[in-house]
Formats: sequence, C-alpha cells, structure tokens
Amino acid sequence: MGQVVVISTGGTIASRWQGSGFAADARGGDVLATAAVPEGVSVRVVDLMSVNSARLTTRDQLALLRTVHEVLADPAVDGIVVTHGTDTLEESAFLLDLHHDDPRPVVFTGAQLPLEAADGDGPRNLHDALLAAGSAALRGHGVLVAFDGRIHAARGTIKVQTLAADAFADPSGNPVADVKDGRLVVHGRPERPAPLPLPAAGEDLPRIDMVMHHCDGDPLLFNAAVEAGAQGVVLVATGAGNATPEVVAAVEAAVARGVLVALTTRVPSGPVAEIYTHGGAVDLAAAGAVLTGTLRAGQARIAVLSAALTAAGTDERTSALRGLIAAPAAA
Ligand code: ASP
Repeated sequence: MGQVVVISTGGTIASRWQGSGFAADARGGDVLATAAVPEGVSVRVVDLMSVNSARLTTRDQLALLRTVHEVLADPAVDGIVVTHGTDTLEESAFLLDLHHDDPRPVVFTGAQLPLEAADGDGPRNLHDALLAAGSAALRGHGVLVAFDGRIHAARGTIKVQTLAADAFADPSGNPVADVKDGRLVVHGRPERPAPLPLPAAGEDLPRIDMVMHHCDGDPLLFNAAVEAGAQGVVLVATGAGNATPEVVAAVEAAVARGVLVALTTRVPSGPVAEIYTHGGAVDLAAAGAVLTGTLRAGQARIAVLSAALTAAGTDERTSALRGLIAAPAAA
C-alpha cells in the first residue's frame, strides 16, 4: 500500500445532468470524494480532461500515455488509477498497456451510473481500482481494468454491457483478480509482449479506420478509407474472419499501397482463423491482412495505431503488428 495517483479523464463516473442528458464535467477531486480510500493508501489527483470517452482522439490518448509516464518518473508513486468513460476504455487501456514498461500497476476504472447517482457503482469501482493500484501483488501485471469486483487485464477486455454494472470482460479469457470482502484475490499474470517505446511527440498522427463486413457488403467503404489516406484499416469480418472475393481484392490493392490491414471479427469471442476460402480468412491472409487473434475491433485498431506510430515502412509495421498480437506465454 502506498502512494497512488488518480488521473481523471471524465466519463460517466464524472458525469452530471446537463438539462437534456448526462455528460462528463466533474473534476477528479469530486470523483475521488465519492469513494472510500483503502487503508494505507494516499492519493493525489491529476486532472487531465473531463470528457465523454466517445469524443476522445488519438491525441488525447497519447496525452494520457505521456502523463502516465511522467507520473511514473517519480519513484515515490506506487501505482496509477485512470478514471475514464467506459465507452472507449478498452482502447485507451490497451494503448497504455502496449507502451507500459514499468512494473507498477496502472488501473483503469469508470462507472455505469453517473457521479451523483444514489446507488452508483463508481465509488466501489474507484475503491477497488485504488486497492489494485496500491497492491504489490499486481506489480508486473501491466495495465488493468477494475470493474464490478473484478480486475481484468487490459489486453482482450472489452465493454460487454451497455447498462449493467458488470460492464467489462474478456470474452476469450479470465479475470486476473477478484476483490472479495475488500481484499484482492489474484488468479494469474496476463500475457504481454515486450513493451513498445513511447511514440515520438508532435508527429503527424496516422488515420486508422475500421470497416465492418455484412451480407451484401462491398468494398466501397474499405476503399473510401484507403482513399481518405488511412495508413491502417481494421476489417471487422464475419465468423472466423471471412468476407468476399471482392473485399479480398480490395485488401490486396491496399496492402500493395502500404496500408496496414488487420483482420478481426464481429463475433464476441474466439480467435480469427484461416479456415475458409472464396473470400475467407485464408484469402484475406494471403492478400496481406494480419489476423489479430482474439483482439476485438477497438483493440485491433489500437494495435495497428501503435505499430504505425512506432515503426516506419510497410514490412516493419507489419512485423511490429504481428509482434503485438502474438503475446508470449505469461511468466
Ligand atoms: N458515455 C460514457 C463515456 O464517457 C459512458 C461511461 O463512461 O460509462 O464513455
């Protein structure tokens, strides 16, 4: 137990009624005031922003990444909590995890009910996040997500409920720890690839788009992304990663132009796999698309973004992306 820094970014946990709907507007101190602080933990708040997370940009996420690294430059800090909107929490948490080169825990949390709700879930989630961030037992576990009594690895964890309190899960894996009677019960250590360096500051940020396949889908939107200058496109395919021969041709042409194409699926759990031809993952992989294992669309996009931010040239980016997907076995 020790010193934890809370970086406040907004979300429902910081939201109040605006006259027509809820939106984030509270500062971190107001959010912290709702929660019980675990015994032995001291807390300092950094107010980075207060926005609904659907509005976040890559620039905002990189500002968060840099703030975490700046805070961790202080050896007196034992861990970090990031309060964040749940809508895109899985994206920011995974971005930070890919670039996290420090044993100290960074724990994301948020809420499904707003700041002033009578029986809100924010206070408990924030308490659990503070407990996890201050815990030596979670050192070396990377970036985590504390929600509804569970601690999840950032990698693979997605929002699985629009309204219910148990909003996060890894549909293809298990939680890292539980919080039972105010105590952490740790089950295992997440698998993580070697951390990437921090992206250089101030550079032009790459456009990375996402296109979903469906019955009657044609390559029009995929090609529009390429024409718009996308340096990467995530194809959210059907089943184990399948589309049509026309989409395969579009992927092949995009890859030939140096666009990084990642292949994921609309299905909630399980890996993409090379099983089907006639437009399936067999052909998409042959056309140069990188299969993204069990990463869902938002995190596949973050993997493409991080590859594009840290490697130059098509081959280097492709191998960087492959390295981010093939996480080694847990230590
Ligand atoms: N709209 C909210 C957001 O900022 C949802 C939430 O935080 O639960 O993502």
